[in-house]
Amino acid sequence: LSQLFRPLDLLGMVYRTIRQGVIDMAAMFDLIDTPSEVTDAADARPLAVARGHVRFEGVRFGYDDDMPILKGIDLDVAPGSTVAVVGPSGAGKSTLARLMYRFYDLTGGRMTIDGQDIAHVTQASLRAAIGIVPQDTVLFNDTIGYNIAYGREGATRADIEGAAKGAAIAGFIERQPDGYDTRVGERGLKLSGGEKQRVAIARTLLKNPPILILDEATSALDSRTEAEIMDTLEAIERGRTTIVIAHRLSTIVHADQIVVLEAGEIVERGTHAELLRLGGLYAEMWERQASEREEAEAEAEAA
Ligand code: ADP
Ligand code: MG
Repeated sequence: LSQLFRPLDLLGMVYRTIRQGVIDMAAMFDLIDTPSEVTDAADARPLAVARGHVRFEGVRFGYDDDMPILKGIDLDVAPGSTVAVVGPSGAGKSTLARLMYRFYDLTGGRMTIDGQDIAHVTQASLRAAIGIVPQDTVLFNDTIGYNIAYGREGATRADIEGAAKGAAIAGFIERQPDGYDTRVGERGLKLSGGEKQRVAIARTLLKNPPILILDEATSALDSRTEAEIMDTLEAIERGRTTIVIAHRLSTIVHADQIVVLEAGEIVERGTHAELLRLGGLYAEMWERQASEREEAEAEAEAA
């Protein structure tokens, strides 16, 4: 670990995080960007997840005091349902995901899980309950098997292989000379963005959390691999409270609820059909992507 985390205070933070039983590497790496350390409240209790009812009430946040990024977000994610968050880049979608994992504290409003304010539960219990597939995954300088197993303590080789299969990365790993023992990172095998995403998905499959956040989890994949993984993702989303941030709208048409975030505000919400009928920003994004898809298909046919 020490070669990965140079600043000693960060090392201390990571060590405490591990000691608290948090084994989510995505979280640890995202912490590097976190300027101030979020601390457990004095009366913090462990989060008790019952059905996974997620609510945002008037959520306000800015990285800088004079620059609001989220301007009062109200969102009710029914237990076991899937909510998709879409919108232009820079709208605040990833910020919303980071706040749920409590990388930062809100400047206003609250986020609750089964009625418990996430600012008043222990971070370890919060992070154990949530699985995030982040937009950019950073891997450990270790074996690919280790990088997948990081999702769960005591995972067996069979568990790891099952997760790799679900994330459509098993074939790639088996083709490496050392298989699951192949080293990745600076001094090992370099993985493409899409391969890293699949490792992150495998890790989350293994963690098997009650609440799932996918932040453009398949954005770096070609459409064939994405289609392969979509079945797995849809299967793990089933019956599990899921917040999916998506760039490609074709991946979220089945969401129970779609919210369109623009400049830190929810400007539209509804199902895919409702939003198309509304004829607003979502419909416009859908039209644009549909014509891009048609062009790509025509090109593929011509080639
Ligand atoms: P999205 O995921 O919708 O593309 P983000 O949530 O990543 O948008 O970013 C929302 C806004 O917050 C952007 O203007 C971005 O530049 C800003 N931002 C994101 N991360 C940070 C950070 N760590 N510090 C300061 N500003 C940030
Ligand atoms: Mg983002």
